[in-house]
Amino acid sequence: MPAMGFAETFETLRSACREIHQLRTASDLLGWDREVMMPPGGIEARSEVLELLARLEHERLQAPAFADALAAAEGQSGALAPDDVARADLRELRRQVDRAQRVPAALAGALARTQSLAQHAWEEARAAADFGRFRPHLDALLRLVRDRAACLGHAADGEAWDALVDDFEPGATARSLAALLDPLAARQAALVGDLLDTGVAPDPAFRRLRIPVAAQAALCRALAERLGFDFARGRLDLAVHPFTSGTHPGDVRLTTRYDEADLFDGLYSTIHEVGHGLYEQGLPAGRAGLPSGAAASLGMHESQSRFYENHVGRSSGFWRAIFPTVRAVCGEALGGAGPDEAYRAANRVARSLIRVDADEATYDLHIAIRFAIERELVGGRLEVADLPQRWNAAYRELLGVEVPDDRRGCLQDVHWAAGLFGYFPTYTLGNLYAAELASAAAAELGALDPLLAAGRFADLLAWLREKVHRHGARTSAAERIEAITGRPPSIEPFLEHLAARLGPLHGRRSPR
Ligand code: ZN
Repeated sequence: MPAMGFAETFETLRSACREIHQLRTASDLLGWDREVMMPPGGIEARSEVLELLARLEHERLQAPAFADALAAAEGQSGALAPDDVARADLRELRRQVDRAQRVPAALAGALARTQSLAQHAWEEARAAADFGRFRPHLDALLRLVRDRAACLGHAADGEAWDALVDDFEPGATARSLAALLDPLAARQAALVGDLLDTGVAPDPAFRRLRIPVAAQAALCRALAERLGFDFARGRLDLAVHPFTSGTHPGDVRLTTRYDEADLFDGLYSTIHEVGHGLYEQGLPAGRAGLPSGAAASLGMHESQSRFYENHVGRSSGFWRAIFPTVRAVCGEALGGAGPDEAYRAANRVARSLIRVDADEATYDLHIAIRFAIERELVGGRLEVADLPQRWNAAYRELLGVEVPDDRRGCLQDVHWAAGLFGYFPTYTLGNLYAAELASAAAAELGALDPLLAAGRFADLLAWLREKVHRHGARTSAAERIEAITGRPPSIEPFLEHLAARLGPLHGRRSPR
């Protein structure tokens, strides 16, 4: 039993954490509002508010009182049991405070304001397919990002980019990620070549059925509910670039978009964000504001969205389970199409330009390109002016496609405009973790396809709640995966999943 002294000291620390979390909640909701509700005229004023909130949050984290409260709790933590959750909170808070103290508050505020303006400029530049309009904003932002990386520092055998990835996947480095991602890209490129060589490809017609946007929205809301998303503790709205804002397990906001000419754009965006939203709703509400009440990492977050998007949403069982709903909502517009047409269209492998539209086999090749380019940008080996050319050459080389314009090239993603350098590889980590989780879930619950066909979504969610969600950031993502599977994360379950699902649909026999 911890001494009373510790409980009191920890409570002081905890109320300071709660206030920092409340400032972050205000920022997140104003950011959500900017993307979902705000008229364009509000951008300058909103950017100033966000700058102030970022500065206040940063000042709180850097304040001597906070450092004293943390040091006092650390000093009394000797009596805690080795697995006491407070130990994980202290460890992670120490890491966050040390990082915050290395970055001046003025730099943190300048970053928030420049990001907000850059993101707005990106939206306009993207709509106009004009990189020139975004370039000065990215230049300014990248200078601040490099300054921040320099403040944070990195190991002698590492690189500047390592300082940034630590925001998203604590403990990861360019080198540790390359050890997974480089062999994965080589084997995926070979797999894609092999699947496309057969000349057999599933018919994509289903996704091109013209389904009115109102019907798509009704379908997506019904699917979110069916998968377990709780609308008493969440919302689903429209945004140009879908995202999830989770400020508390009681208020989780999904966004999506719809395209009348492409059913899958909205459907898979929604299922993806539902995966994120289920994780946020499943975090321990009693630990809100503490690291143990937050997601383990972005890689773990993405594992939840990719688990739902791919292992659930692209499975044959899922389509069989939901098709009565699809038929009820879409009616005549479906023609004679059934679940098998949907399943096949959802798993067509193709070389493509757009990451968010990519199939499971090519998706991580898009990430490999961004991983390489952002290391060059942050490391000063690539100038912003040369970005479009570098991007287009990489797509030609790795994906075999010609980029027709910057809208479908280096302006397609919001991340760099939002100052998120070091983020992209967490998508691939998410794919790897999702495959680890799917294989572990199948070992415990039985094969997933029949389980999904039977509509047992609640059983699957309960398993994820127990294995992943309720643990928050008590351990790192990689440690949690290892605790579930008994071995460190690897690329093998993911590659096995790809070959087993996509091979037969492209004229190859399943390896198993
Ligand atoms: Zn995601």
